Amino acid sequence: MLNSADAAFIAQLEARLGGAVARPCREADIEEPRGLFKGRGAAVLCPASTQEVSTILAMCNTALVPVVPLGGGTGLVGGQVMADGPLPVLLSLERMTAINNISQKNNTMTVEAGVVLADIHTAAEGVDRLFPLTLASEGSCRIGGNLATNAGGVNVLRYGNASALCLGLEAVLADGTVIGGLKRLRKDNTGYDIGQLMIGSEGSLGVITAAVLRLFPKPAALHTAFLAVSGPEAALRLLHRLQAEFGDAISGFELIHQTGFDFLDEGGFGLATPLETPSAWSVLLEIGGAEGLGEVLQHALAGAMDDGLVSDAVLAQNEAQRCYFWQIRETIPAANKRIGSISSHDISVPVSEVPAFITRARSAVPAHFRVNCFGHMGDGNLHYNIFPPKGESRQGYADERAGIARLIFDIVADFDGSFSAEHGIGRLKVDELQLYGNAGKLNAMRRIKAAFDPNGIMNPGVVLKA
Ligand SMILES: Cc1cc2nc3c(=O)[nH]c(=O)nc-3n(C[C@H](O)[C@H](O)[C@H](O)COP(=O)(O)OP(=O)(O)OC[C@H]3O[C@@H](n4cnc5c(N)ncnc54)[C@H](O)[C@@H]3O)c2cc1C
Repeated sequence: MLNSADAAFIAQLEARLGGAVARPCREADIEEPRGLFKGRGAAVLCPASTQEVSTILAMCNTALVPVVPLGGGTGLVGGQVMADGPLPVLLSLERMTAINNISQKNNTMTVEAGVVLADIHTAAEGVDRLFPLTLASEGSCRIGGNLATNAGGVNVLRYGNASALCLGLEAVLADGTVIGGLKRLRKDNTGYDIGQLMIGSEGSLGVITAAVLRLFPKPAALHTAFLAVSGPEAALRLLHRLQAEFGDAISGFELIHQTGFDFLDEGGFGLATPLETPSAWSVLLEIGGAEGLGEVLQHALAGAMDDGLVSDAVLAQNEAQRCYFWQIRETIPAANKRIGSISSHDISVPVSEVPAFITRARSAVPAHFRVNCFGHMGDGNLHYNIFPPKGESRQGYADERAGIARLIFDIVADFDGSFSAEHGIGRLKVDELQLYGNAGKLNAMRRIKAAFDPNGIMNPGVVLKA
């Protein structure tokens, strides 16, 4: 049984820490991007060091006060907002923003958990390196949140998701135990990998306080193209063909349906397809490598056009055009938000099954609904979002949300896919995890939760039912 945090408890905490660590909750701390949940909090605690995080957690654990870790608040499954139950404290990493030990020779960087993702990109560029985790929310999300949600984004195809970009991790468990792991090693086979266990745990096991990140040499050039394809099957064949020729140099292979452009238009975003002859489906392709690779790519695309895989293509001629192509892709979620989906699904299936999934899902979803299907086709990860008919609002279809989600997730399960590819479980998908999760894995997860957080103070209701 947990207790609400109150002013006396916050005062005790501050007395123990010898200074002000608490600030009042602001609107931005308790809202989430989709407006599905509204959080609450007695205060936002802003520790300045791992030791302070440890003291705060130990005191919350003794007082049985729930703790909600907070990064940039951009999570899409409600993990950072606790809407009911005893009043929690929010633990924000906003004051822990140090970047240390940037090493070009070791291709690593050690960062505190509160560093904003965009600042990590800038710091990496400062030593002529790349940190490839790229999300539309990168100006606000913090690396601790990225690791806690095992974020994906547009470069997973080449560089992997957050877990693949992290070599070492420091975290604090519910009782204040600090798990140090900031080694800058590529190999360290010394028992359980607790750092990797914390990645994707969404604040339910402890607080991530710092990490060692992998950096990469920057590709000499990025070659970016917008391509018209006849459909997902042609896109898949194109992907395989390009992978055979360019291998891991392909860093982005995004599938976009015409509905995405319709929504950008309806939403007044002023972004149109760069293709002269658009088709129902487009691909945004990016390949990184030597300058000369651009010519090889042109040749490969000409071949794909001759073979009927691509019907129109435009290659970015400069950085501004490249940014425009990506702006189109990155603005589709904002356009979706403006239109208002009935139900959104961040799913994955084996890459080879993407076309079959799209065909089956579209035929299962009632024809009067609009579907905006787009996403990281190279990873088999699609954002499959269902909207009301044009001119109607989603409010009128609120009762249908659960049924639609179930329909889509059942199809995903038939393809042996995942009902949450990159956004996590949070509070939004706890029931789905019970329904679709593997029983043995769920049992092990509950046992890990009980071992790391026996009083259940860490982010109650996230991932597993409280
Ligand atoms: C426009 C937009 C585009 C997006 N695109 C993508 C995308 O392409 N791919 C993708 O994967 N995600 C995407 N996201 C989702 C989101 O940006 C990620 O989930 C992000 O990684 C969360 O980081 P954050 O700092 O905002 O975390 P928050 O939202 O603050 O928290 C998210 C979860 O992590 C926990 N948490 C936060 N910090 C810590 C910590 N230090 N220790 C332990 N737990 C912690 C929270 O309690 C919560 O459960 C997008 C979001 C938006 C708004």
